[in-house]
Amino acid sequence: MDIQLNLSAFTDERRFVPLDPAALYDVLIVGGGPAAMTAAVYCMRKGVSTGLVTERFGGQIAETSSVENYLGFTYIEGLQLVERFTDQVKQFPIAVIEGSRARALAVDGPVKRVTLENGATLQARAIVITTGKHWRRLGVPGEAELTGRGVAYCSTCDAPLFAGKSVAVVGGGNSGVESAIDLARIAERVTLVQFLDALTADRVLVDALAGFANVEILFHHEVTRINGTGAVQSIAVRDNATGAERDLPVSGIFIEIGLSPNSNFARGALELNEQGEIAVDCACRTSAPGVFAAGDVTTVPFKQIIIAAGEGAKAALSACEYVLTQS
Ligand SMILES: Cc1cc2nc3c(=O)[nH]c(=O)nc-3n(C[C@H](O)[C@H](O)[C@H](O)COP(=O)(O)OP(=O)(O)OC[C@H]3O[C@@H](n4cnc5c(N)ncnc54)[C@H](O)[C@@H]3O)c2cc1C
Repeated sequence: MDIQLNLSAFTDERRFVPLDPAALYDVLIVGGGPAAMTAAVYCMRKGVSTGLVTERFGGQIAETSSVENYLGFTYIEGLQLVERFTDQVKQFPIAVIEGSRARALAVDGPVKRVTLENGATLQARAIVITTGKHWRRLGVPGEAELTGRGVAYCSTCDAPLFAGKSVAVVGGGNSGVESAIDLARIAERVTLVQFLDALTADRVLVDALAGFANVEILFHHEVTRINGTGAVQSIAVRDNATGAERDLPVSGIFIEIGLSPNSNFARGALELNEQGEIAVDCACRTSAPGVFAAGDVTTVPFKQIIIAAGEGAKAALSACEYVLTQS
């Protein structure tokens, strides 16, 4: 009987165990990116009871076409790396809820509580927050209604949908210029809208963009509205030097103005910095005892997969140490 159970744990049919909202876990991990998955492996190998709740597995890696700087892989597609990570987590009978977001956090006392958007409350003695970042929105009329209908945030994911069409990219930093390059290869025309008088992307990217004849850059401009019925048809842009506003016919607009931390649910419960990142010390401890955080959602400098994974390991070890020394 034992032998059968052990063997089934290593077949392709490995499954996560459903998380029991009535249970008190030693450690509850919130998030499903590289920080979370590394934390999960470390907690399970330490033998503490572990739950994990995430909106989805993969995090930003699922939106990355290829990765060339994660050690062990000279080149790997983003989705393949997600598969490798989840396969490794699935070696262990970890309790998981996928498809739910944390909405609130209560950290007073020995039992910490995470309330989900569906109203369910999960409990644990220690929490590891690894909720990463999301694309920042422009906040102009038409953006919310037309998201997924021409308004896009990830050129790696959506650029192929705009082959042969006219598109706009908002943002002159690395993300914006990289997107404009991706799109210039396949779109008919790319208009890059930059708020400042210069691009702020790395020189190597700016030079690469200059090599495309189908790219126009509108400096000191901003998008004030996105127009369309059912799909994007045009955007309104304002020249901030003259105040003049005009409509630009485009089928798509890529908004590449940076990323914001997914930390709203922790606001009021934990100390955040001005950007909304969760403040952590060198052991991934937050301002609340028993609550740890790792990866892009934190104040740790440099947002990369290898850093998120390393911080996830550190947060898990700190959480396990906390749980084991409290009992
Ligand atoms: C387009 C792109 C390309 C990149 N390329 C590279 C690269 O080549 N090399 C590299 O090293 N790095 C790259 N990065 C950066 C890297 O992907 C991130 O640094 C890394 O994914 C951060 O990991 P994380 O686990 O901290 O957070 P994330 O990857 O952001 O994962 C956060 C997870 O938490 C979940 N979540 C969010 N909010 C909640 C909530 N309230 N409740 C429950 N779950 C929640 C999300 O669904 C997600 O699964 C790239 C990023 C992008 C966007």
